[in-house]
Amino acid sequence: MNAEETRNMFIAVAKRMIDSEEYLTEIDHAIGDGDHGIGMAIGFRQIKINLESRSFTYVNEVFHTIGMTMLEVMGGASGVLFGTLFISGIIGLEEKKEFELSDFAEVFSQALQALKSRGRAKVGDKTMVDALEPAVKALQDAQERGVGIKEAFFAAAAAAADGVEYTKRCMASFGRAKYYKEKAIGHQDAGATSVFLIFDEMSRFIAKEKQ
Ligand code: ADP
Ligand code: MG
Repeated sequence: MNAEETRNMFIAVAKRMIDSEEYLTEIDHAIGDGDHGIGMAIGFRQIKINLESRSFTYVNEVFHTIGMTMLEVMGGASGVLFGTLFISGIIGLEEKKEFELSDFAEVFSQALQALKSRGRAKVGDKTMVDALEPAVKALQDAQERGVGIKEAFFAAAAAAADGVEYTKRCMASFGRAKYYKEKAIGHQDAGATSVFLIFDEMSRFIAKEKQ
């Protein structure tokens, strides 16, 4: 995937996230303060503007633009956490005009490690990590199996969806959901749902563009 394709993929992701505002608000409302959908929509509206307003040579710059925009315009825990996700994945990586599956696997894996060390959450704490970690593992497994990028992202989106289902069975260790204790059981985590939506839209875009 070259930089322009990656940019177009994240413009599609941005539209999906903007359209999901109400859905995410409802989810966060059940066991949080209900601001997750609003925060993500604010972030992705500006991301869409920033991605559409220029062209990109390096794929790294696309990730950098997304992460910086989130840190600048989003509030709440998720501004920092999702910003970290997009910024930290490319730190130390050489600038590349094209990303192979192995690059995406490496970037999202590095992002996961950074997110975990920053937020201290691990799988089972009912956070976005519950969707991101299985998605990253699916990308890595796909790469090891030597399958194409389309199949890899399809598997990653499916793994993220399973991760969201898993959060329904967990109690929360972070954020406001923590105070709900066992009352949080049965409810899915909002941040994990956002991670699923992002991977699902990437998968749909790649399925369409990369025949
Ligand atoms: P806030 O908690 O400030 O209201 P949001 O509602 O936007 O922020 O985001 C909440 C989401 O952030 C949660 O659903 C969870 O997935 C994620 N989250 C919260 N704390 C952590 C953490 N320490 N590590 C990883 N993810 C976290
Ligand atoms: Mg919230």
